[in-house]
Amino acid sequence: MLNFNITGVFKKLETGPVTFVTSAVYVIFLSMDKKLIEESKKYLMNTYNRFPIVLRKGRGMKVWDSTGKEYLDFVGGIAVNCLGHCHPKVVIALQKQAQRLIHVSNLYHIEPQIKLARLLVENSFADKAFFCNSGAEAVEGAIKLARKYAKDHLSPDRYEIITAHGSFHGRTLAALSATGQEKFQKGFEPLVPGFKYVQYNDIDALKKALTDKTCAVMLEPIQGEGGVKMPSETYLKRVREICDEHRLLLVLDEIQTGIGRTGKLFAYEHFNVEPDIMTLAKGLGGGFPIGALLAKESVAASFQPGTHASTFGGNPLACAAAVATIETLLEDGFLLDHCRRLGKYFKDSLDRLKKDFSSNIIEVRGLGLMLGLELTKAGGAIVESCLNRGILINCTSGNVLRFTPPLIVLEKEIDSLIEALEDILAR
Ligand SMILES: *Cc1c(COP(=O)(O)O)cnc(C)c1O
Repeated sequence: MLNFNITGVFKKLETGPVTFVTSAVYVIFLSMDKKLIEESKKYLMNTYNRFPIVLRKGRGMKVWDSTGKEYLDFVGGIAVNCLGHCHPKVVIALQKQAQRLIHVSNLYHIEPQIKLARLLVENSFADKAFFCNSGAEAVEGAIKLARKYAKDHLSPDRYEIITAHGSFHGRTLAALSATGQEKFQKGFEPLVPGFKYVQYNDIDALKKALTDKTCAVMLEPIQGEGGVKMPSETYLKRVREICDEHRLLLVLDEIQTGIGRTGKLFAYEHFNVEPDIMTLAKGLGGGFPIGALLAKESVAASFQPGTHASTFGGNPLACAAAVATIETLLEDGFLLDHCRRLGKYFKDSLDRLKKDFSSNIIEVRGLGLMLGLELTKAGGAIVESCLNRGILINCTSGNVLRFTPPLIVLEKEIDSLIEALEDILAR
């Protein structure tokens, strides 16, 4: 079903006047969608509150649903599609690699995996990389590596990791246990032991939480899922100092902030700190699933053959997509520069919006193209109004509109979003 080419119909619906033919086609597609959505509810576990549209095509900042309706995408697959939808470099890299070799396992050396590791090492604090398939899997790896390092170098009963309230580290059991938000953990107890939560941005709380069992501190440089919360100017630097004083590892979870999202390749570069371990995923494959764990040599050495593994991790296809993504992102520094400029333009626009609607908006936060708008009440209705107007946005933490568009977003596209928000807030 729905496997015929509908590009022509898209064109007609995008450009032509709505003739009898196109409106008849529209009605047919709507009824096909209705059936698909019914099947979605019938066959898929009910883990997501999905919007009632079926997305079938994407290019750059835009996606289209199967009726041909166009949307400006300010979600970007939740900070994943950093180069936009179907970027030609990523598409071609995937096509070429798919024809050559799709999977062989890590029993052998894999060229795109080696290339990707070199790219990441040469452009970060790290000396070594380990590849996996998702953010949560990268976090699991980070937790295991931190524990193993402590066992190897410090003491057998140093295993506790301190994380922050409001953090988000993923949905697998250990990543969920590391996540400092009860609402995600409820119903899945008993959690994995060995995690302690402290207030984000509170250095004294961190100091008080340290015990002779602590082995690491894990933080997001900017809390994403928790509502785009910024660290204070000196927070991460102070955390680094405390880690050094107490021989703790600093793990930065850059799954959302990494790969250019904040205007630098990695967010830690803004704050003058370097982690010992870093997790990546989301934007890394330009839309293709891949996760990574990066570490300093001395820490990475605690993983030896047999200590950690992943069948699909570093798969040729995923690594080819990631190499194409990073190479494109770093070409001439153009895209990172664009991200910083457009991020500022976007934030200034949101700040103006806040001035005009001070009774609806509490705060504008974020860096680069990871921005949040905290509302005085729940944001779901605004997300829905935007969807109806052909703009995709996301709401996190109940009342924070989160914007994580592709890094190629243009001023006029930001203007369209701001106009829509003005209009919606004015009602
Ligand atoms: C999204 C996210 C994760 C989880 O990634 P998945 O690929 O969904 O498992 C972990 N940490 C942070 C900071 C994230 O934003």
